[in-house]
Amino acid sequence: MAASHKNITADEVKRAVENAYQKVRSESGGKNASYIPYLASVDSNLFGISVCLLDGTIISVGDSTHTFGIESVSKVPTAILAMREYGAVDILNKVGADATGLPFNSIMAILLEKDRPSSPLVNAGAIAACSLVEPVGNKEKKWQAIVDNIKELTGAEPEVIEELYASESATDFNNRSIAWLLKDYGRIYDDPDLSLDLYTRQCSLGTTAEALSIMAATIANDGFNPVTNTQVFDPDFAPKVTSLITTVGFYERTGDWLYKSGIPAKSGVGGGVLGVMPGMFGIAAFSPPLDEAGNSVRAQLAIREIMHELELNIFAASRLCICQCRPTQEQS
Ligand code: GLN
Repeated sequence: MAASHKNITADEVKRAVENAYQKVRSESGGKNASYIPYLASVDSNLFGISVCLLDGTIISVGDSTHTFGIESVSKVPTAILAMREYGAVDILNKVGADATGLPFNSIMAILLEKDRPSSPLVNAGAIAACSLVEPVGNKEKKWQAIVDNIKELTGAEPEVIEELYASESATDFNNRSIAWLLKDYGRIYDDPDLSLDLYTRQCSLGTTAEALSIMAATIANDGFNPVTNTQVFDPDFAPKVTSLITTVGFYERTGDWLYKSGIPAKSGVGGGVLGVMPGMFGIAAFSPPLDEAGNSVRAQLAIREIMHELELNIFAASRLCICQCRPTQEQS
C-alpha cells in the first residue's frame, strides 16, 4: 500500500509544543546530575522547548533562551567537525559508528571493542574526535575550530560556563582513564590530556534550547542552516550524523527511547535533548532533572508528546510528513 503522507503546519507544531509544555511542566521525576557539582546546583524547575522548522521559523515555549551546560550534546557538533575535516569514511575507521548498549562513560565498552572507540557520541569516541580536530597539537586553534563549528551550526557564538568547566575539570577522573586507555590502544590522535581538556571544555559550553533546535534543524536540513541561510556541511554527512544519533543518542536507553518516541535524539547531563526529524524540523528541550541513564525526564516526555500529537514517527511510512514549512527549491 502506498504511504499516505501527512502535511503539518507551523500552527499545528505550535499547538503541539504548547500542549506538551503544559502537560509536562508539573512532572517532578528525576534528579539533577550530581557527579559534576555545578550541575547539582542548577534550578530543577527550569523547562523549555524549541522547534526550528526548515524555513527558519522558531517555535518556543518556557525557558528556551536560558543558558545551560551543553554537556554530551556537544558530541554531535564535534562529530560533524571531524567529518568536515577528515570525511565520513575516515571517521568510521578511526572512531566508529556502533552502539555500545552501555553508559556514556563506560570503560567496559572500550575493552569490549578495543579496535575503535565505538562512536563519537560516547565519551571515548568524543575524546577521540577532539583529538582529531585540526590542527593537531595546537590546543587553542583546535578550540577555536570547535567553537566556530558550533557557531555555524547554531548561528550564535557559545561561551564556556567557567564554573562548570572548573567543576568538571576537578572531577573528571573517569574520563582521564578513558583518554589514557585510548592512548594504549592507539585510538587517540593527539596528546591525551590536551584532547581530554578540549572535551571537558566543550561539555562546559553554555547553550539554549533555541540554539540546539537550530543545530538540529541544520542536521535535519542536509547541513543547510535555515536561520543563517548557509550550507554548513556536506549534505552527505547529514544522514550519517543522524545515524550516529539514532544508534547511541540515549546510551543504554537508546532502543527504549526510539521505540517510544520515533525520533533520533541526543541527550546531555545538563538536561538538554536535541532531536532530528530529517526533512521536517529540529527540536530541543531542556530541563535539568535526569533519569538514571542521564537523560532529562521532562525533555523526553515533552518530545514524545509532541511527536505523538503530530502523529510523526520516522519508522512509520504512513506517518512521514511533508512539512508545509519546508522551503521549496526556488525559495531557498
Ligand atoms: N561531561 C560529561 C561527562 O563526560 C558529559 C556526560 C553526558 O552529558 N552524558 O561525564
